[in-house]
Amino acid sequence: GKGAAMVTAVAYRLAAQHAERQSILDTLRLSREQLLEVKERLSEQMVRGLSKQTHEQASIKMLPTYVRSIPDGTEHGDFLALDLGGSTFRVLLVRIRSGKKHTVDMHHKIYSIPQETMQGTGEELFNHIVDCIGDFLEYMGIKGASLPLGFTFSFPCHQSKLDQGILLKWTKGFKASGCEGQDVVTLIKEEFDLNFVAVVNDTVGTMMTCSYEDPRCEVGLIVGTGTNACYMEEMQNIELVEGNSGRMCVNVEWGAFGDNGELDDFCTQFDHTVDDCSNNPGKQRYEKMISGMYLGEIVRNVLMDLTAKGLLFRGKVSERLKTRGIFETKFLSQIESDRLAMRQIRSILQHLGLTTSTCDDSVLVKEVCSVVARRAAQLCGAGLAAVVDKIRQNRNLNQLTITVGVDGTLYKTHPHFSSIMQETLQDLAPQCQVTFHKSEDGSGKGAALITAVAWRIKCEGQH
Ligand code: BGC
Ligand code: MG
Repeated sequence: GKGAAMVTAVAYRLAAQHAERQSILDTLRLSREQLLEVKERLSEQMVRGLSKQTHEQASIKMLPTYVRSIPDGTEHGDFLALDLGGSTFRVLLVRIRSGKKHTVDMHHKIYSIPQETMQGTGEELFNHIVDCIGDFLEYMGIKGASLPLGFTFSFPCHQSKLDQGILLKWTKGFKASGCEGQDVVTLIKEEFDLNFVAVVNDTVGTMMTCSYEDPRCEVGLIVGTGTNACYMEEMQNIELVEGNSGRMCVNVEWGAFGDNGELDDFCTQFDHTVDDCSNNPGKQRYEKMISGMYLGEIVRNVLMDLTAKGLLFRGKVSERLKTRGIFETKFLSQIESDRLAMRQIRSILQHLGLTTSTCDDSVLVKEVCSVVARRAAQLCGAGLAAVVDKIRQNRNLNQLTITVGVDGTLYKTHPHFSSIMQETLQDLAPQCQVTFHKSEDGSGKGAALITAVAWRIKCEGQH
């Protein structure tokens, strides 16, 4: 009768809505073939980045770091370290003791960098940094001590020696004017007479810190606000640097992968929107599909689309939902936590000002978060597969056993990111046995260790 017809109509509508939701989510799902393709394309760009002829055009810059030796345990002394890369600036005093049980003691102070300073003039930014250094030296009572100093500067830099870092371009939340093309050492040194020994990327610091404990660690990985990796490459493959013997750490700068269109086949309308609204449209396309600064924005754009299509939040796109940046990485991690009941997800959404009407809404939001995070972890795993397979091939090995030192809040706090990433890696690089070693404060400690090694070698050379 009439009742049955209505029930059928409702069931039909629900099934159609379900299909529509899934077809939107499907655009964010990658097949194994697609992931293999990502690995292949990234491998190609790595080779192009290393070669003199193709370096300029390559999306991945494969920057030489001038870090060649890992700590041998004999280095010791007091070092200063600076750490700039996220939304804070840190100054550290690091004491390294040599001997069988080498220990590292650290004192540090964290200084915030206001958004206006990150995106104002270079002069404002570096004046602020210099003020912070001055404050720290005074606070520690070591003004004028001229300690050897290492600077973890987590942006792509051109280096022709260890104690130089010419900023190629800002990434993440930074946009201070007049800095690109400048040596960050000179930008700070103009004010102070500091004893700069090393400029290092955070990936490199992370790898170094980890290799201090595990000599098998020859890869560094960051999945935080931004994403990037470094690894030990054969000198003979690094055409931008003279010399063919031994190895040097290369800063892959894989965040820029895709900037020549290599990821266009896998991008969704949501990725395009997030890119268009970012500080650096058209740049860091791979990073924008993986790292913490962007995942929440992808999720928010998917939710807006679902809502506009009447598939979520009763079809009402609230002002709150239209607000950029409401979805921080920590919410992504929280929402996906397995211990959480739906009612807790609802309260997280309420906290975000997104009043969910139904339980289905909470389920769908969770599904969106999970699809976006899964894709990020798989893409990251595909990139890592390219890196470790390159190392294996460099060494003519059938099987490679290697350790990756890793840091970054997304990697460390997300309940599923690391396991999905490792699963993908194992699947795409089956000839590599990879162990992951979480690094504790790799960027600060790492800069000090690199400085210590360079300082030891320099001092040995003088005797
Ligand atoms: C930067 C890299 C850095 C990574 C992680 C990226 O945006 O380009 O140099 O290693 O973020 O902090
Ligand atoms: Mg060479």
